[in-house]
Amino acid sequence: MTRILIIGPPGSGKGTQAERISERFGVIAISTGDIFRTNVQSKTPLGVEAKKYMDAGDFVPDNLTNKMVRDRLSEADVKDGFLLDGYPRTTAQVDYLDEILADGGQKLDVVMQLTVDDRELVARLLGRAQETGRSDDNEAVIRHRLDLYHEQTEAVVAKYTARGILSQVDGIGTVDEVTERTFLAGQSLLLP
Ligand code: AMP
Repeated sequence: MTRILIIGPPGSGKGTQAERISERFGVIAISTGDIFRTNVQSKTPLGVEAKKYMDAGDFVPDNLTNKMVRDRLSEADVKDGFLLDGYPRTTAQVDYLDEILADGGQKLDVVMQLTVDDRELVARLLGRAQETGRSDDNEAVIRHRLDLYHEQTEAVVAKYTARGILSQVDGIGTVDEVTERTFLAGQSLLLP
């Protein structure tokens, strides 16, 4: 049973790495950002509400996000493990995830934090904005998303560090190099 979190600032490549890690360790990757984007595209009530926050680079409120995650984690395909990408991003979400896991008698194995400095992130995100036209990739919104990461999500990292389950992964380098580092960080998961 493998339960992994991947945390990283916007532009750190966590979505790409999450796909690879999930394949390597045989668990399903769940990206809260992707679930929100799917809801936005299909114009569900959740999507209509979430879009307002996403376009501004804000976090979707905890009550909506937490419920969505609880629903997703109650599905049968994640009974034996998962990799959560992009959740928790606030300390309140950490507490909520603790509750979900405790209710199911489960615990986290490892939390990976991808580290990339802000200058590199802004450059990457501006490049991505031109390629994909993601509506939350203009410069003001990018800077706001980075600020939120520092203000809110670093406290999440601190919590998991205190629990001794955080593993920092240098996110600078080629995609393959970073993948190799994440595999090393997760190596203990392969031990019997
Ligand atoms: P991401 O693809 O992970 O960068 O997420 C895109 C956007 O979805 C974020 O900028 C937030 O607006 C929203 N989002 C994703 N995950 C969360 C979360 N755990 N809490 C609040 N908002 C989230």
